[in-house]
Amino acid sequence: MSYWKNYRLKTAALNVLAESSEDETEVVEAVVENDKSDLQDTDSSDIEELDSVDSISDEGLCNVVSSDSETESDSEENTSNLRESLASWASKHNQSKYCIDELLNILGPHFNDLPKDSRTLLRTPKTIDVIEKCGGKYINFTLKQGIMNILSHKSQNFPDNILMLNFNIDGIPLFKSTGTQFWPILCSLENYTPFIVSIYYGNAKPNSIEEYLEDFVTELNELQEVGLLFEDRTFTVKVNAFICDAPARAFLKNIKGHSGYDSCERCQIHGVYKDNRVVLNSSEMCAPRTDEEFKEIRYVGHQFGSTPLLNAGVACISSFSLDYMHMVCLGVVKRLVLFLKKGPSECKLSAHMISLISDGLLSYAGKLPSEFARQPRSLNEIERWKATEFRQFLLYTGPVVLKNILSKEMYTHF
Ligand SMILES: [Zn+2]
Repeated sequence: MSYWKNYRLKTAALNVLAESSEDETEVVEAVVENDKSDLQDTDSSDIEELDSVDSISDEGLCNVVSSDSETESDSEENTSNLRESLASWASKHNQSKYCIDELLNILGPHFNDLPKDSRTLLRTPKTIDVIEKCGGKYINFTLKQGIMNILSHKSQNFPDNILMLNFNIDGIPLFKSTGTQFWPILCSLENYTPFIVSIYYGNAKPNSIEEYLEDFVTELNELQEVGLLFEDRTFTVKVNAFICDAPARAFLKNIKGHSGYDSCERCQIHGVYKDNRVVLNSSEMCAPRTDEEFKEIRYVGHQFGSTPLLNAGVACISSFSLDYMHMVCLGVVKRLVLFLKKGPSECKLSAHMISLISDGLLSYAGKLPSEFARQPRSLNEIERWKATEFRQFLLYTGPVVLKNILSKEMYTHF
């Protein structure tokens, strides 16, 4: 199958050559010749593929016209055309560095002025503007640039000229032994690969939310007000959602942390302190929080003050989603299983029962279909379980292995 990878690479090369120049017959032949020799030791099914390859390659050659003589300046011009075509092809199809380097290796002997390295071809900048900001280092790649990169080859996928953006902002610790961390602002547009808007790097989280979000808010405001002009089309830019974990949401919205008395982001419940923790539990329905009241900073116990996101018109209640992974998988389900394993005494299971559950889980290890990201592990490793393993326990394996072990009351509760 590695042949097909090579084949795709070479076909792409042929297409670029056919587009960029009219004098590349020699190279094309060399590449096709190379194709054939690659395949001499392959089996008959591969040879059949080769035949179809040749016919495709020949088609690709239809446009190629040979010429006998060429001046040196022509040759230079052709190489420069080829270089530009290759660069635009590579960025259009999001080719990997490895792939471009290999293509340049193939073409290198035939074109003197072609660079040997993909970074030279794509003119990757050698220096990036890093500035000191909010107690660390900061780079702004800009929102506009990221959106333009997607529009440059996907603009036809937005027929109504509306761009709905999703954002994720989170702290990423770089090492276990030090506090150094990244705080990237990531943006995604529909289902395309997310891109980086800006990155902060420092020994702690950004010391000022105003400074950290300054560039982002200014740019977002501008895009929302005037839209984004791309090839005679003006796109309307809107914020769809901010998808962050609880600590990052508290930081961005400038509100109390998730263990506070008034920490609920959806309603105005006031918690009570019970068994070393704050419990948000009320028999009555509490008034919901609204975007308008949040904007006016009316939630005194909940909000510390204003946030720059309000200046960008972000709806700080409805645009902040509460995510399933943290709340259900790593929240409720993990807590529930840990209660079964470690107590309190009302619900703690005996060591024998825990080992029966683990045995039950392990009996399915290696037998679940490949659609599952992970196979079940024993409860001894619960501290290292990933969110997908808790989801699998909740929806699939749990109801089976807990049956006849838990009391009817606890099983129904699960
Ligand atoms: Zn609530």
